[in-house]
Amino acid sequence: MDTKDEVSKTDAQWREELSPDQYAVLRKGATEAPFTGEYAFTKDAGVYRCAGCGAELFDSDTKFESGTGWPSFYEPKVAEAVELRRDRSLAMVRTEVVCRRCKGHLGHVFEDGPRPTGERYCINSCALDLETR
Ligand code: FE
Repeated sequence: MDTKDEVSKTDAQWREELSPDQYAVLRKGATEAPFTGEYAFTKDAGVYRCAGCGAELFDSDTKFESGTGWPSFYEPKVAEAVELRRDRSLAMVRTEVVCRRCKGHLGHVFEDGPRPTGERYCINSCALDLETR
């Protein structure tokens, strides 16, 4: 799947295609409660795709246990798969992570991650779809 082909759908289409939780996170920027998501502790090998558009976002090889209750990765599968945006909501300055293809909200990236990148992509489970290998 080509991550450069952008997906754009109407709000009504997204609402119809996504589950209520996926819609709230991907389209409205909500955050799922920690330790509740399907992939918080998953160690299965595979590729995590965007639950909105199917773009390949993260590989299980870069997933690590962050203790936060959200799936955490030290880098995207390919840098171009995601888009980073300055987020000043909730009286914090954070970096939002968005799927480049469908612009769905995925989570945030922080600079307290492990080697080799030092980054921690903190991603909502329900924004992801694991394709195991
Ligand atoms: Fe997407």
